[in-house]
Amino acid sequence: MLIAPGSVVSFDYVLYAPDGSIIDRSEGEPLTYLHGAGHIVPGLERQLLGKAVGDRIEANVPAAEGYGESSGRGFRVPLDQLPPELQPQIGMPLGARGPDGQTMTLFIVDIDETSIAVTTDHPLAGVDLRFAVEIRSIRAATEGELSHGHAHGHDGHDHSHGH
Ligand SMILES: [Zn+2]
Repeated sequence: MLIAPGSVVSFDYVLYAPDGSIIDRSEGEPLTYLHGAGHIVPGLERQLLGKAVGDRIEANVPAAEGYGESSGRGFRVPLDQLPPELQPQIGMPLGARGPDGQTMTLFIVDIDETSIAVTTDHPLAGVDLRFAVEIRSIRAATEGELSHGHAHGHDGHDHSHGH
C-alpha cells in the first residue's frame, strides 16, 4: 500500500534546522496523520505521497511550504486580560478569536511585568526545514476518520474530542 489521500500514516522523523541542529524528533513514538487533511506541513505531506512502509526519505521543505514566511506582526496583551489560570511561557501557543471571529493561534514571544507579546507567526515561520523520515505503517482511513478529517486510535487522535 502506498501513501495516498485517505491513508492513515505513521512515521518517525528527525527535523533539522538549516544549520544541521535538531529541532524535533519523534523519539520512537511515530507521528500518525491522515494524508490529505493538512495536518502536517504541506511541503512534507506532498513529498510523502506515493511512499511505502520502510521507505526513508530526506525532505527539504522551504519555509513557504513549512510553517510559512515570518510576517513579523505582533502585539502586546496586558497580563490582566489573560485567563487567571494561564501561566504564560515563551513559545506557548494560545487559541484566540480574530477580528472576524475566526479561530487563530498566537504564540508568546516575550513576557514582562505587565504584558505578553504575541505573534501570529509559528515559532518555525521563516525557517527552511529538513526532515529525515522513515515510514512505519500505512492503512486506509475508516469512515469515521474520513468524516472527522483526522486519524483515530491509540496511534492517532484521542477520540475524546466530542465531535
Ligand atoms: Zn474524531
